[in-house]
Order: sequence, then structure tokens, then C-alpha cells
Amino acid sequence: MEEKKLKFNSKAIHGGQQPDKAYGAVMPPIYQTSTYAQTTPGGHQGFEYSRSGNPTRTALENSLASIENGNYGLAFASGLAAMDAVIKLLNPGDEVVSTNDLYGGSYRLFKQIFEKYGIKFHFIGMSDAAAVADYINENTKLIWVETPTNPMMNIIDIKAVAEIAKKYNILLAVDNTFATPYLQTPLDLGADLVMHSATKYLGGHSDLVAGALVVKDKDLADKLYFIQNASGAVLGPMDSFLVLRGIKTLHVRIQRHCENGEAIARYLSSHDKIEKVYWPGFEDHPNHDIAKSQMKAFGGMISFVTKGNSYEEAIKIVERLKVFTLAESLGGVESLAGHPASMTHASIPKEEREKSGVVDALIRLSVGIEDEEDLIADLGQAIG
Ligand SMILES: *Cc1c(COP(=O)(O)O)cnc(C)c1O
Repeated sequence: MEEKKLKFNSKAIHGGQQPDKAYGAVMPPIYQTSTYAQTTPGGHQGFEYSRSGNPTRTALENSLASIENGNYGLAFASGLAAMDAVIKLLNPGDEVVSTNDLYGGSYRLFKQIFEKYGIKFHFIGMSDAAAVADYINENTKLIWVETPTNPMMNIIDIKAVAEIAKKYNILLAVDNTFATPYLQTPLDLGADLVMHSATKYLGGHSDLVAGALVVKDKDLADKLYFIQNASGAVLGPMDSFLVLRGIKTLHVRIQRHCENGEAIARYLSSHDKIEKVYWPGFEDHPNHDIAKSQMKAFGGMISFVTKGNSYEEAIKIVERLKVFTLAESLGGVESLAGHPASMTHASIPKEEREKSGVVDALIRLSVGIEDEEDLIADLGQAIG
């Protein structure tokens, strides 16, 4: 259809959307209903029960499919609920190859929920994509990629992993939460499935929790829809409306996140108290060339380490911040700072987390869309 020819900014606003059939409302109404009147058993207008389908959720799902260059979107109650549906495609005895530097909640879902159902997970470094092939056997059914990774901002070559996945006929899923489809569209690079924590950039205003899946293939979409309806972790109409509203400004927000992100990454790397800044836009980032080829820009997520690697000093810095808020999560319009060693990654033993670079002094920033000068001044006074 014509709409597929639209460019990204237009799709963010119009993708999959039509004025509402009842009164021509330009924004899809919040259909706050569990059920729909039928004229005769089975005589309904496409919706019968809101777990199976709700018009506001459908509007969001169509928008998701459009912006990720897929054919089918599915909206869930959280990012982890979306992932849960993907793993339910598998059977006991199946194996998954996953990146080792991934969102902590994803790791917990794989290890503490699904391993006990007989699914085996291999957590490996994927900065060299060829390593994936070493962990594939006849039981491997899924490759799980997250790029850029959290919190170390490693970059994984989606196209190279997709070639391995195709060769062995294995499903490739990409968690696109950090990049968003404005910066990177994994389905165009050969992935079969894109997952989002829509809580983050897609919603964009830190006012909801939501998840999303997007695929191209009808058969895969049907299987996921069956799980979505049968397991029931659907997104409600109010939150569907809010994510849809967030998506309409995704492109302008991400542009500013990227501009501010770059300014702050460069400021920190020139600061004499800073040891190291992790941001894929730097030429000396190990996979900078891959980031450049698969992403439109480098995003607003940055991690950094102060000289001396002091736990206490890192805590003091995040406590002194005034414009940045000390909080979990990311991707909202407001700047947030976190201390992985005591917050998101506290449950991982020190030796384990240090292996992947999560040292005591590591601070993670989700750079918002405030004025760059205010953000830099705030970091300046906090670092001292
Ligand atoms: C937050 C996050 C998730 C989990 O999503 P929820 O919406 O919190 O369930 C998964 N992956 C990444 C990269 C995230 O940042």
C-alpha cells in the first residue's frame, strides 16, 4: 500500500492510522471497554473481547508495524511480557544463543523463569558476530540480540548475525529499545522479530510501562498473536493511546537526544576527572564502523567511569546531580542518571559484573531533551 512509501517522520505520525470511523476523530479514541455488542452470536464489527483485540491497541499495533518496516505489530503490558511471548514459541530442549551484556530483567526472565521449563540459554559476547556460530547446534531455535547493549554500549552487527541465523534456519530477535526504529530497523537488516520496551523511547515521557513485537512473516505473527491472546499480557487502551501519542514525536525527540548525547559524550571525554566514556559515536569505540553503518546516529545513552574507580565518589556524583534525576529507566524527555553497581546490576556478584565492564565507578546517563548547556553545567558541578 502507498503508506509503505512514506518516509520515517511521516510514518511516525500517520503509519497505520485512519480517522476514527464513528466521528472522524483524528486521534484514535481510548476504547475503554472489555467487550462489544453483537447483533447475533458472532455478529460483531471485528472486536469481541479486549484481550483478543481492542481498537486503540490495534491503532498502536499498526503504527508499530509501520515504523519498524514490518507487517504485524503486537502490544504487550511490558517489554518483559513481550519477551515472555517470544520465548513461549519454544519447547523444552530448545536452545537460545543470547548476548551476555543484556538488560538485567531479560537475563532474569531467561535464567529464572524459562530455564526451569527445559530451555537452555547460552550468554555470549557478540561484538564479534562470528562467535555466534560456535554455539549453534541442532537444538538452537532462537538468537537474541540487544544492540546497543546496556550499560556498556557494545554494538552487535545485526546483518552478520542475520546471515548466520539464515544459514542455520534460526529465528533472530533484536531488542531495539535503545536505538528505536528512528535510528535502526533490524527487520531491514535480516532480523525476523523486533522487540521493544515501549516504556522507554517509544512512550518517551516516563508515564507508562509497555512492550511491543513487530514481525514481517504472517505465520510468525499468527503464532505470536495466539500466545498474546492465550497468555493475556496485553496492553490496555489508555496506555496504548499514550504510546501512540509518544510515537508521533519520536523522530524529533530522538534527534535532540542524539544531539545532546553527542555534546555530553564529548564534554565528558575531555574532562580531566573522567577515565573512560562509553558511547558508540566515538571513532575508537570497537564497533564504531558497524554502528555507523546500521544506525542513523548514535543515541543519547552514555556510560562513563571516573578516574580512581571509587564507588563512594560515583554515589556522590549521582546524588549531587540536580537537572539529571537519579532513577531507573531511560528514554524519557527528562535526563536520568543511574549507578549500575548499586542499582540495576547490584544483584550480580562484583567479579561477574566487572568482567563485562560494570565497575564500581560506572555511571549511566539517559540524556534527555533539555538544553545542552544546563545538562553540561549540571554534570560539571556534580563531578566537581
Ligand atoms: C526496560 C528494558 C526492557 C524491559 O522492558 P519493561 O518495559 O521494563 O518490561 C527490556 N530491554 C531493554 C533494553 C530495556 O531497557
